[in-house]
Amino acid sequence: MLRIKACGLSDVGLARTHNEDCFGIDPDKKLVVVADGMGGHSHGEVASRIAVQSIRDYVDRGAVGEDEGENPSDSKARSGGPGGLQRHSRLLQDAIRIAHRRVLGAIQEDGALYGMGTTVVGMLLKGNTAAIGHVGDSRAYRIRDRDLQLLTQDHTWVNEQVLAGFLSEEQARVHPLKNVITRALGGESDVVVDMLEVEVAPGDVYLLCSDGLTTMMPDRDIQAKLTAEDSLEDSCRALIQEANSRGGLDNVTVVLLAVQDGNSHPG
Ligand code: CA
Repeated sequence: MLRIKACGLSDVGLARTHNEDCFGIDPDKKLVVVADGMGGHSHGEVASRIAVQSIRDYVDRGAVGEDEGENPSDSKARSGGPGGLQRHSRLLQDAIRIAHRRVLGAIQEDGALYGMGTTVVGMLLKGNTAAIGHVGDSRAYRIRDRDLQLLTQDHTWVNEQVLAGFLSEEQARVHPLKNVITRALGGESDVVVDMLEVEVAPGDVYLLCSDGLTTMMPDRDIQAKLTAEDSLEDSCRALIQEANSRGGLDNVTVVLLAVQDGNSHPG
């Protein structure tokens, strides 16, 4: 049984008047979420909060049902289902789809919110498999053996150019269109949620962050900061300080989740 320790920090940065980022941590469900809202008149704040709250609520309800229904006859359905995703991955994927509908619903109820949207990246751990789902350019990384690895692919115009071989990663990082995202919650009527499953190991640290971090700092500098600090809290603070010391042009949010060996107990 693996245990987790998680902490997060969000900062308005030095150039914006509102913080439209939002994050959520649910240690019991082993769920962490980061959302980066967009839209005029601080409506991005509304979208990112709806998304985080909706995902937390949905996973909470889903996880309760799962615990109550836990019995041997249930185990086949839990170890993998249609589409090859494990049950908790499908739960997270559904939670993100529902969050998208909630954002659209809020816009329908209040026309003034038209144009708001949000990215999201979420991670839900069960057993030794982390389900990671995302839409937009908020990212998930893994730090293992002091090595930082990007796990998600940005849904951005520039990243599509990188994947197609038209831009280098460094060109993409400073490109004038780097902020153009191609998927968001609250955007088109249907949203495609990218899901991946990764095997976790004790000692792993996972970083979920908004683009306010990754547009200010290349990966190698993020890795250097993360491996230099002793505690998760210090790492969060150091990353935000560094993003701000480089200009703080955007809201910046970081969530860190460390995987630890739990107390093993028989049965
Ligand atoms: Ca942002």
